[in-house]
Amino acid sequence: MNTTPTRSLSSIMDGNSFQATNLGLLPSNEQALIRRRMAALGTSYRLFYRTPVHADRAEGCYLFTPDGTRYLDAYNNVASVGHANQRVIDAVGLQMGKLNTHTRYLQDGIVEHSEQLLATFPEYLNSVMYTNSGSEANDLAIRVARLWTGGEGLVVTAEAYHGTTELLSRVSPAISGGFPEDPSVRVIAAPDTYRVETNDMGAWFAAQVREAFEDLLAHGIKPAAFLADSIFSSDGIFPNPVGYLRPAIEVCHEYGALFIADEVQPGFGRTGDTFWGFERHGVEADLVSMGKPMGNGIPVAALVGRTEILDRFGTEVPYFNTFGGNSVSIAAANAVLSFIQETGLQSQVATVGASLRDAISTITSDAAFVGDVRGSGLYIGVEIVTDRDSKSPDGGRALAIVNDLRDRGVLISVAGPGNNVLKIRPPLVFGTSEVALFSDRFADTIAAAGNA
Ligand code: PMP
Repeated sequence: MNTTPTRSLSSIMDGNSFQATNLGLLPSNEQALIRRRMAALGTSYRLFYRTPVHADRAEGCYLFTPDGTRYLDAYNNVASVGHANQRVIDAVGLQMGKLNTHTRYLQDGIVEHSEQLLATFPEYLNSVMYTNSGSEANDLAIRVARLWTGGEGLVVTAEAYHGTTELLSRVSPAISGGFPEDPSVRVIAAPDTYRVETNDMGAWFAAQVREAFEDLLAHGIKPAAFLADSIFSSDGIFPNPVGYLRPAIEVCHEYGALFIADEVQPGFGRTGDTFWGFERHGVEADLVSMGKPMGNGIPVAALVGRTEILDRFGTEVPYFNTFGGNSVSIAAANAVLSFIQETGLQSQVATVGASLRDAISTITSDAAFVGDVRGSGLYIGVEIVTDRDSKSPDGGRALAIVNDLRDRGVLISVAGPGNNVLKIRPPLVFGTSEVALFSDRFADTIAAAGNA
């Protein structure tokens, strides 16, 4: 019997992953480390890039290998306020030396931080629960939504990714082979503003949501939630036009379902214009999950919602999360939020992001294989296509661009079902000198791709 499993390719996991067949391209010490890694960690772990980056230390927007080679990190939504941010290091070190315990003890830090975090939301979102990861926050959100609505039905987009738990695998089509069929889940087309032919994306997308809820009802399944990443990152990054989400959320509410805004990607000022991605669209979210950038690398995530909704869950379902909201994670979260607010980072993101997008548009204006440059703040997507007429995704060329750029010392990746959208999502502290360095290397890569 053949027991060798065949790998099911997932856009989010395999779009830009190292293949063992390229082991021979690496220096012998890295080959040895990768062999040991594969032996110890098994097959689940994927490294980025055709030739992986051996990371040893990092500072600000730069990663360094053991031999001191420097890479510009233009792909990091975790080190939001910069790698090795001194303020976060100090806050975490101080708290670790003082007290690190859980939420069953009365502490000042968690209360102060919660008040500060909630102040970034519209007034009706006035309660927060802490978890360790974005996955846990989304998992909790679905439990809360199902309890509140008494329904089971969930609606997500075609290439959505929402996390790692058993429940979330059922709402994460991007993981492909690990996405089990679930009678209570409906998958709708993404709001692909580049390809869908409509002059009213709001109405078009709302119609998809309506159809999904109707289908759930037709199968006797009561709607519970529409769960969406408001920048649709794994679907291919679709931030604009601002406001196009509004009709879809109105439909969601019309069916008595909750809108769960997954802010793991756009949250914490990344889009430059608003602090939270859903706010850009002028919609009301009932539950908001957040993670990645929240602790600058310290595991901390959260679910924010209307008090009455979270209270209902809190009253009826005993819930305790040992590490969720621990003193050190909260200290990290507090340092990150304070840093963002006190340095005016969101407006810097808006300015720097606009200049990065302009530079990319200028560099690619004559490249027939670049179909679209879109984004908001420091979240930018670049469509690599076979030609501008057919708009056919060219994942092969996108991957070649990502790897060429990596060889020139700049780190980005790909997104979208065709793995053909360059995903440029640097730390929020990306500055004008980083834009200049990025543009210099990117221009060389685009020129080389044109000649390939
Ligand atoms: N939601 C979205 C939109 C994500 O991108 C991710 C992580 N890539 C998650 C949820 C899950 O977060 P975590 O990996 O922290 O569990």
